[in-house]
Amino acid sequence: MKPSRTPKKQQSRIRLLDEETINRIAAGEVVERPASVVKELAENAIDAGAKQIRIEIRTDPGGISRIRVTDDGSGMDAAEARLAFTRHATSKITSWEDLSRVASMGFRGEALASIAAVSRVTLVTKPADDAVIAGTRLVIDGGEIVSEEAAGTPAGTSITVEDLFAATPARKKFLKRKATELAHIYTAVERCALAHPRTAFLLVQDGAEKIRTYGRGGLFGVISALYGTGIARSLVPVNGTTPYMRIEGYVGRPDLNRQNAQMIVLSVNERQITSNVLLRAIRAGFGTLLPKNRYPVVFLALNIDTALVDVNVHPAKKEIRLSREDEIVRDLAAAIRTSLGDKELIARGTPAPGGSAAPAPAAGVAESHSAYRIDPRHERMPQQPLHAAFGQTDTRLRLTEHGAAGAAAKVPGSLTVLGQIDTAYIVVVRKDDAGEAILLIDQHAAHERVLYEQVLAKRERETTAQELIVPVILTLRSKEAEIVRGARHALMTEGFLVEEFGGDSFAVRTVPVILGRQVAPDLVRDCVADIAMETRVSAENVRERITTVIACRGAIKAGTPLSAEQMQKLVDQLVRSKNPWTCPHGRPTMVIFGRNELDGMFRRT
Ligand code: ADP
Ligand code: MG
Repeated sequence: MKPSRTPKKQQSRIRLLDEETINRIAAGEVVERPASVVKELAENAIDAGAKQIRIEIRTDPGGISRIRVTDDGSGMDAAEARLAFTRHATSKITSWEDLSRVASMGFRGEALASIAAVSRVTLVTKPADDAVIAGTRLVIDGGEIVSEEAAGTPAGTSITVEDLFAATPARKKFLKRKATELAHIYTAVERCALAHPRTAFLLVQDGAEKIRTYGRGGLFGVISALYGTGIARSLVPVNGTTPYMRIEGYVGRPDLNRQNAQMIVLSVNERQITSNVLLRAIRAGFGTLLPKNRYPVVFLALNIDTALVDVNVHPAKKEIRLSREDEIVRDLAAAIRTSLGDKELIARGTPAPGGSAAPAPAAGVAESHSAYRIDPRHERMPQQPLHAAFGQTDTRLRLTEHGAAGAAAKVPGSLTVLGQIDTAYIVVVRKDDAGEAILLIDQHAAHERVLYEQVLAKRERETTAQELIVPVILTLRSKEAEIVRGARHALMTEGFLVEEFGGDSFAVRTVPVILGRQVAPDLVRDCVADIAMETRVSAENVRERITTVIACRGAIKAGTPLSAEQMQKLVDQLVRSKNPWTCPHGRPTMVIFGRNELDGMFRRT
């Protein structure tokens, strides 16, 4: 599928939309802040087929004093220029039927009118048509044309916006600090550039170049230009064609995760959008590679048949509505899962300072490499006699020794265990073609992952429940009791038969048998506590939480001394897992320090 776009070079003539179309347009405020002006003007330039877009921002102590966007697109003749500032005048659609197949960025004919109503606008434009010799210069103040003259100018359009919100103090009051508004402008330009890799963008603020992309090198070229090669190198390509869409782009390695969704940049048919539906697909695609409260870095360009995309739902056109939502979510998640599935995703140790050549990190990008919350459940177990501990660990390791025995090792190279640090981390030397590296493995997280996968695989085949001779009575707090009542059916499917026992008490009558062992009945309490942290509790969720809790409880704890042989066994089991990179909670199981990282830490670069 090629993005079906109305021919860019020569836009059809601007005309007023009819009453019916106007009424069907999602109305609302288009111009909220300076960044909205930048976005609308840049998108108009895109629609006009511009190859280069130059955005100039002037500031004074009070804020942003001038915005100018200049393009080399189709331009307008004098009559069109006059009409462009009339509300509902557009060259992009002619009737409401067109609303169902909009491929241009604009379609409402509202932006220029809205901008002109709250500012002073100077438009200089000339059609990219050789027959036209002179261009047009229009000044519009508060929505009224105050001057019109012929002007010598190159083909294309330049729109200058000054005194924004000067006459609407109520709106002006809502603006944030100058730095915040500038950050919004940077973000708007970045996102626009990412959605349009074939267009060169330049953002100049008070004479200084802030953002530059080149209009070549595709999405990867734009990402490198905006965020530097450091981020670009940590990306995994995602490509795929499904019945409803074409997917192109990149997802960041899981250890590049962030605390918000700001580095999830999505476009659908070249329109930059936000979408909770697509966000859900992305999360599902990452699965247990990410902690629940963290967000990945994602740059995706989706091409979806315009008939399935309703762009007319949000005043600033930032959201869309999708038909075939379920299929799209499923296929996007699968595409991401597949691309990550065959990659080595070991979390990197402290990045080498000289390694990444990020020129000037743009707003919002500078954040520490990764931040993982350590769960209190990972606290150490009380010290016990060495032989007793070894014995218990042997049992735990035996539980999982057959699961992935035949599978190929996912971590390339040979692994030699050096020892254990603080009875929590295993130190390994990895040797492969690239050289040697230190691998630190979190023993609890590692075994948790191994156990999780095996419980999951086993359970897909059968769940056996074992009746307890003496039922275990749990007395819960009322909030937890509510959760148990809601999750009783799901718990039963998992092998826990839980019955009301008066008030907020419950009797656990059966427990699941997993990997040949009976699960401790009071594990229900842990499951409930875990489920209580979820906002949306679906049967699917309950299932996953129970598996996670079982894995966590059964796994070797931090604080457990391990023999050399046990460490080797555990490492061996881990690297043969389907996803050895993170524990089921999304924290890393291992961190690698390669030559780059080591040289960086020793300032050798
Ligand atoms: P819309 O983009 O929804 O059509 P706008 O108010 O943003 O509405 O623009 C109105 C019209 O002005 C556009 O349809 C287009 O024909 C014309 N126009 C606006 N900006 C440009 C530009 N940079 N180059 C050429 N034509 C433009
Ligand atoms: Mg527009």
